[in-house]
Amino acid sequence: MDVKADLHMHTNRSDGIYSPDELIQKVHHKGITTLSITDHDSLDVFPHAIEFGSTLGVEVIPGVELSATVGEKEIHILGYFVDFTNEHVLEYLKFFRDERKKRAVRIVEKLNRLQIPLTFESVLRRAGSGAIGRPHIAMALVEEGFVNDYQTVFDQYIGFGCPAYEKKFNLPPAEACALIASAGGLSFLAHPGRSMDDELLKMLIKSGLDGIEVVHPSHNESLVAHYRGIVTQYFLLESGGSDFHGGKRNDDGVLGSFYVDVSRVDAMKRRLFDQHSSHSGNV
Ligand code: AMP
Ligand code: ZN
Ligand code: FE
Ligand code: FE
Repeated sequence: MDVKADLHMHTNRSDGIYSPDELIQKVHHKGITTLSITDHDSLDVFPHAIEFGSTLGVEVIPGVELSATVGEKEIHILGYFVDFTNEHVLEYLKFFRDERKKRAVRIVEKLNRLQIPLTFESVLRRAGSGAIGRPHIAMALVEEGFVNDYQTVFDQYIGFGCPAYEKKFNLPPAEACALIASAGGLSFLAHPGRSMDDELLKMLIKSGLDGIEVVHPSHNESLVAHYRGIVTQYFLLESGGSDFHGGKRNDDGVLGSFYVDVSRVDAMKRRLFDQHSSHSGNV
């Protein structure tokens, strides 16, 4: 029997809609035995999520999703097994969340100039104390009747290059990988199939990635095979998952359908163990 690991999931500590407990229960019902919660710029769900998971027999791996910028392009990097008590990382994450808040204010100002009277307070209500993302703005615009549907908000207003688009502060990829490594974690390039040519991918591999997210809803079978080939060629690790957020994105169907075998998680643990032994001079 497959032992399924979904290593890319969001909660309401960033732009997902479910609490960690709700998410873990849902995933458990879908037959997933190992998962990683990878909120944007937040490790807030830990250690609670790990403890809650263990009551159901679900292993929860600490994770985080960082954004990084290469030129004009934004990429995402998943950090696994990050030490969620590491003060240096927690300070960075707080800084990124503050920058997200400032960017949300700028986006709302741009929308107001476009005659859409959205308030920052209504966005903040949806984000709570978690990391604010554009999905919160999209949900507020739809629920308050300013725009008809979620995707239209991105296509016409806040997507890259649209009139209310605003950049946010991101690290360069090598610094994002170094930050993850400084807290004992492993870095994986998230959903490369969304917008990446192989030249950029190879450059990113050199910036300190330990692996690539091979399985993702945006990857068809041939892309999965392609990225698996690159993983083998460059001696990298493989991850994968549903990138589940819930809610307006209508992504309930992805739950339980995008996963990797738990042996991929064992390979990550072995890599960390080997790194640790070589650092302690026990080779
Ligand atoms: P942020 O982290 O605030 O920049 O928001 C990024 C999130 O917004 C991504 O994880 C996607 O879920 C969503 N998003 C970004 N661009 C689009 C787009 N063009 N269409 C739909 N969703 C998008
Ligand atoms: Zn997200
Ligand atoms: Fe992402
Ligand atoms: Fe994600």
